[in-house]
Amino acid sequence: MIVKNQTISARPLKNNDSFKVFFRIIKMSLKYKWRLIFGIVAIFISSGFSLYIPLLLGDAVDAANNLLGDNSEISSINDSRNHLYFICILLLIASIGRGTSAMLHVYLGESIGQHIGYELRMLYYEKLQRLSFSYHAGVHTGDLITRGILDVEGIRMFVQTAILRLIFLTTLIGTGTFLMLKTNPTLGLLSLSFVPFVAWKATSARLKLRSNWYALQDKLSTLTKTMDENLGGIRVVRAFSAEEFEMEKYKKVSDEALDLSNEQVSIRSSSISLISTSFFISMGIVLLVGGQQVINGSITPGELTQFLAFMSILLDPVRQIGLMINGFARGSASGGRLFAILDLEPNIHDEVDSQDIVVKKGKLEFRNVSFTYEGDNHETIHNISFTIDQGETLGIVGPPGSGKSTIAHLIPRFYDPTEGSILIDNLDIRNFTLESLRHAVCVVEQDTFMFTASIEHNIAYGNPWAPDDRVEKSTHHAQLAEYIERLPEKYKTLVGERGVSLSGGQRQRLSIARSVMLDPNIIIFDDSTAAIDAGTERKIREELKNLTSKTTTIIISHRLSSLMHANKILFLEKGRIVESGSHDELLELNGHYKDLYDLQNKARGKM
Ligand code: ADP
Repeated sequence: MIVKNQTISARPLKNNDSFKVFFRIIKMSLKYKWRLIFGIVAIFISSGFSLYIPLLLGDAVDAANNLLGDNSEISSINDSRNHLYFICILLLIASIGRGTSAMLHVYLGESIGQHIGYELRMLYYEKLQRLSFSYHAGVHTGDLITRGILDVEGIRMFVQTAILRLIFLTTLIGTGTFLMLKTNPTLGLLSLSFVPFVAWKATSARLKLRSNWYALQDKLSTLTKTMDENLGGIRVVRAFSAEEFEMEKYKKVSDEALDLSNEQVSIRSSSISLISTSFFISMGIVLLVGGQQVINGSITPGELTQFLAFMSILLDPVRQIGLMINGFARGSASGGRLFAILDLEPNIHDEVDSQDIVVKKGKLEFRNVSFTYEGDNHETIHNISFTIDQGETLGIVGPPGSGKSTIAHLIPRFYDPTEGSILIDNLDIRNFTLESLRHAVCVVEQDTFMFTASIEHNIAYGNPWAPDDRVEKSTHHAQLAEYIERLPEKYKTLVGERGVSLSGGQRQRLSIARSVMLDPNIIIFDDSTAAIDAGTERKIREELKNLTSKTTTIIISHRLSSLMHANKILFLEKGRIVESGSHDELLELNGHYKDLYDLQNKARGKM
């Protein structure tokens, strides 16, 4: 049984952790160095043009003032008019230059963001393929899906909105400030009076937004999880008329997520509007003091215009600080969550010097194997030892929960034994690469997963290049060929979520065909005929007899007729072998096996 009750914790990051996350993302961006370099060059060009525009405007106001002056001579009027035309042309060039370079750095910023998003998505998916079963058993798929979508998006947005924009805003605000202070120190200082307020507001908003992002991502994960469970268990929901209960459950989390989103909007909009208000107050003060200086004659109207134009050029970047705070907050929250998974090391992995398995005989041996599931405090199987030779069949029987599937899952190393060792041809399976081991050992599970693809593709999943006749042969062995032939599109019929629904027994037969097709050295049927009637099962067994004459086979079943032909049978109870031997030997023992045999015989007699 798989227990999926843990959620991945949404632990808020400490401040220095979040800086580590930023540096890590920035380091990833450095890989796209040409885009970065061109982006930064475009930023400098765009900032240069942006800051040139106020100078031109100031100049234009002074030239226009000259034109309007009543003591001007004709030649001076003509000069001023020409100068004004010239400024107009320069303004046009500066605007086009600014627009083009801004477009370029925004494009480059977004493209770096998209590339990093792509890279993280692939790394994440690849990590999910490698993480061990014990990890997957402990987390909810909904959580993992949310991380793969929302957190990757959070980082992508951060890269897109924050990294190049940060350089842009720093250059623009820094150079603008320098020019203003240089032109008129008093007005320069006044126009910067909003900066301490922005700094304080930005920091406090970032911290609030970051913890809000954590809480929101957590709620969104829960929503995905709830929906995932609801859809997966739709039959149970309908059968128990639990739609209302399910709606309530979903609504509760949905409402909480909405509250958090509202809170986020209010933090964001209040910080943006407070930052803008403080900026306009500074602008008002500059206008008041600057106007006085124009009246005194210490500056020209053109110089005051220049100043105000500088400030309005800075208005947009100052407003964007709000956007960036949000980007930083979400980026650090998402980065913290995603990197926590990317940094996990799967506990089942290829050992150093491991080699591809070359099965010569296919002898399988369990040597004093014990196993405890992670987080469990008692052994699931204890001191299991047995040997099966090539071509032999081992049957394992025992009450539910006695550890039969656990034994099956140790052979392809879904888990590693806590004690003891498993050997194939006298070599510990940890000597082999995981990939080759899993090609040599096939587990046919009771619960079969169907991909939304054709029957043909589902069967050939382990070897998509298998020739058609091999696929057909394996369905024949699994007693599924007749059914497939009756389908309208035969082997091309779509199955899975969007295709034809197969019954439990048909799914199990498809699963048998999928495994048999790979011709593995060791094949384990883990209660994989539970939903197939005894007659069909017998036919499958007979078909497979020739095919698996060289295969080492393990059959796990609660139905004794499925395994009584085995060379050796183990009776398992509470993780221990309590009886072992051939069918006849076990009957003679007159113990658990015999009791079960009598019980099943009696039940059959009654039918
Ligand atoms: P069987 O196949 O005989 O029904 P299993 O091997 O599936 O038994 O399970 C043996 C015991 O191990 C059961 O008590 C079950 O709850 C527990 N178990 C199975 N899978 C896990 C898991 N992934 N994590 C923790 N405990 C598990």
